Amino acid sequence: MMRKSAFIYSKELEKYHYPPEHPFNTIRPRKVRELVESLGLLSGEGIREVPPKSATRVELKKFHTARYLHALKTASDNKWDSDALSMGIGTSDCPVFKGMYEYSVLVAGGTLVGAKLILSNEVDAAFNPSGGLHHAGPERASGFCYINDVALACMVFAEAGKKVLYLDVDVHYGDGVAYAFYDRSDVLTISFHENPRVLFPGTGFADEIGQGLGKGYCVNVPLPVGTYDDAYMEAFKAIALPLIGAFKPDVFVIQSGADALAGDPLAHLHLTNNVYADIIEHLLSFHKPVLMAGGGGYNIDNTVRAWALAWSVLCGADSSCPAVGGVMLQTTDWQGGLRDRTLVISSQQRESVEPAIQAVINAIKLKVFPIHGL
Ligand SMILES: [Zn+2]
Repeated sequence: MMRKSAFIYSKELEKYHYPPEHPFNTIRPRKVRELVESLGLLSGEGIREVPPKSATRVELKKFHTARYLHALKTASDNKWDSDALSMGIGTSDCPVFKGMYEYSVLVAGGTLVGAKLILSNEVDAAFNPSGGLHHAGPERASGFCYINDVALACMVFAEAGKKVLYLDVDVHYGDGVAYAFYDRSDVLTISFHENPRVLFPGTGFADEIGQGLGKGYCVNVPLPVGTYDDAYMEAFKAIALPLIGAFKPDVFVIQSGADALAGDPLAHLHLTNNVYADIIEHLLSFHKPVLMAGGGGYNIDNTVRAWALAWSVLCGADSSCPAVGGVMLQTTDWQGGLRDRTLVISSQQRESVEPAIQAVINAIKLKVFPIHGL
């Protein structure tokens, strides 16, 4: 059965680019769109494409300070100064480029369009492949991110009285979102990421669990170098599923950064895109709306395929669906076309990964589970 779903995209996004030497490539959403369109997954029963709409100043100020927004706009107009640099604007990670403000605000507005469509019950699922800029802080550009669209979406849902489960599967810790809700219990953040001793941003250890009212509502799952599908899903099932069951969210927000895939040039995990599909299937099994955003992912072809696969699961097109958009699909070819082959895992790799996975599962069960009555 097809789900009422919105794919958020417009050609307007194609006007903007990070500098050519920068790893964050804004061509990815366009390529995802082309691929899902070729599969008949951009229109037809339940599915529609919706353009993003720039976030308003009032919306942006739910998370970002006026000083920061001013500096970002000024830098975007080519009047960058040292005050902007003190907020991370103009570094090698977060360079100044033409239209950076307009682009960031349009992307953030796209994720908010998805949130609004969910809140008005017009769709059950939405995907903004341009979004997922999870490192930006209230007054800080960080890790290629300027405006934190996913934190803003969680805020909008929370303001509407919803309990929000934010899940971050980007290989980097979703620090900007985790810290936005660090002392709150209405937004439970769960981030799976590579060991922060090895990778940016250097925080996100298992003992960082939130504070005050939010104690136990920030869950960090640092993963060892070389983590493969089985080990990842073992951690997901042992940690995320019980917590979701106990928390009983009204809505899911997932940052689906694809830099945890094997072969990503910026990270060292060893996943296939089957993990992304499996996780979305698990979220859908709770029968709550899902707002999905993109994120990292620096092997462009792998990222595009992973997000197209994630979208195909999210919108409800699966191998048992004989016709999508009026086109008969060769279902085995189609699935094979998007899904990665299973990777062979050596016993040496299992021996190095498995004990670290068990240790993090045990640490979270000890520190976090009792707070949720588990
Ligand atoms: Zn990342």
